[in-house]
Amino acid sequence: MPERYDVIIIGSGAGGGTLAHTLAPSGKKILLLERGDFLPRERENWEPDPVFIQGRYISPDTWYDADGKPFQPQVHYYVGGATKLYGAALYRLRPQDFGELKHVDGISPAWPLSYDDLEPFYTKAEWLYQVHGNHGEDPIEGHWSKQYPWPAVSHEPRIQQLSDDLEKAGYHPYHAPCGIMLDEAERPRSTCIRCTWCDGYPCLVHAKSDAETIAVRPLLGSQNVTLLVNSQVIKLETDPTGRSVTGVVVSRDGVTEAYEADIVALSAGASNSARILLASANDQHPSGLANGSGQVGRNYMFHNSKAVVALSKEPNDTVFQKTLAINDFYLGAEDYDFPVGQIQMVGKSNAEAMKGEEPLLTKFAPHFSLEETARHVVDFWLTTEDVPKPDNRVTLDDEGNVHLAYRSNNDEEAERLYHELKQILNHAGMADHHVLHKNFYMHMSIPIAGVAHQAGTCRFGDDPAESVLDPTCKAHELDNLYVVDTSFFPSIGAVNPALTAMANAIRVGEHLLERMG
Ligand SMILES: Cc1cc2nc3c(=O)[nH]c(=O)nc-3n(C[C@H](O)[C@H](O)[C@H](O)COP(=O)(O)OP(=O)(O)OC[C@H]3O[C@@H](n4cnc5c(N)ncnc54)[C@H](O)[C@@H]3O)c2cc1C
Repeated sequence: MPERYDVIIIGSGAGGGTLAHTLAPSGKKILLLERGDFLPRERENWEPDPVFIQGRYISPDTWYDADGKPFQPQVHYYVGGATKLYGAALYRLRPQDFGELKHVDGISPAWPLSYDDLEPFYTKAEWLYQVHGNHGEDPIEGHWSKQYPWPAVSHEPRIQQLSDDLEKAGYHPYHAPCGIMLDEAERPRSTCIRCTWCDGYPCLVHAKSDAETIAVRPLLGSQNVTLLVNSQVIKLETDPTGRSVTGVVVSRDGVTEAYEADIVALSAGASNSARILLASANDQHPSGLANGSGQVGRNYMFHNSKAVVALSKEPNDTVFQKTLAINDFYLGAEDYDFPVGQIQMVGKSNAEAMKGEEPLLTKFAPHFSLEETARHVVDFWLTTEDVPKPDNRVTLDDEGNVHLAYRSNNDEEAERLYHELKQILNHAGMADHHVLHKNFYMHMSIPIAGVAHQAGTCRFGDDPAESVLDPTCKAHELDNLYVVDTSFFPSIGAVNPALTAMANAIRVGEHLLERMG
């Protein structure tokens, strides 16, 4: 007989880890199945060459693009999922993102719930993930019921100067919300050493608020929570009516096992959750589990983003650079009717990373001049919303391999955002700038490999013909299957997605606690 649990959660990242943390105090018997292992704490965690150039923490997997060309996706199969490598910029969507927004290349559809519905869960997620920020600074943020648990991380002098210059020029820079364990008032007590490695690196001292450190690790001693690592879910089985998931089939260290639970919550990341549902096709669900609508795998989004490196005349000796953001163009720009996007800072470039990012430009540069150049760069991350398109989708071939078809959209808006950044740079003594390629890990040449912000393959909604999940994130067609990773997003907005996944996981968790009594 397979072992039986109250809840099985598949995937331990932003969605799954947070759900486990929400459910655990109830005493319900929970099984957390994670494909990867714990990410090793080792010297290489903070070394640019292994991280950026060799891709040490990119998990082996092969996906195929629309033309059938294989590529290595930028995936991180670890306890904590992609949050082990994330930049911990924990933004709320703006209230307008929950309604319909017209973009140059289509409609960003309305969510089946409003910003006000999610607001209490955003607050809970901000407190759980120890977010540092100042509510009230960004003129377009929605209402907030509670201030952040920690004040915003202070700007270092060069970024403070940038902020002052921008304010003088009439912009509205604000402190970026950041999930790190840092107490600036009592420095010796804090675990964060305020290093430069937050964005794109694992945190060697476990001071980044990722899903492993915050949500999963505290549960490890619990009687009622079992974590199985190296356990890849292959498919879900149903009863003969097709209404209930009855078995979770797992390959654990190469051995096939099956587990049972009253409730199954899928949270394997947007592409892999679609992969599992499509691979679970049976007589009752011939096109894939929960896929009567044909929407599973469709509407894949991942943002239309650009990394921009600006060269500043003055040196930029900032260590922790991700402290500033600008939403002045989030909902539009002068003489432009469409939303444009968000500008934020990213982790500071260094000579090693620049070598990986621009191998051709830097190949013949002597190291010392690269070091000097790196000292003068100021790094920005530009995010424009991409709208859901049915043909941007995950499908499987006969061998069960993931095929990812994606054509970018809203390029005009993304160009407009870059134009706005150029204006900003003119006000901030950085007229001379250069655009880097989009991919975070630069040895990957296929843009779709940058799946960091993947979302939208199982969107939630009121209409079972148009969506996979109902507003509680339960599959319309099944009684006990939920999806709690970024798959549920009907649209992605123009801010980083993790806080919304965490807040929603708390919302779904509280719903499940009510359902289970
Ligand atoms: C370099 C980088 C920087 C980022 N920076 C930011 C940022 O600053 N702010 C932000 O908001 N977002 C950021 N993100 C994105 C953010 O990390 C993701 O949006 C978020 O982690 C998604 O949560 P999720 O639960 O959908 O998936 P994940 O967190 O990826 O979790 C999915 C989990 O499922 C597991 N899994 C997959 N398949 C299976 C299977 N078959 N069986 C069992 N387990 C499985 C995976 O191993 C993983 O642990 C960044 C991502 C990257 C890679």
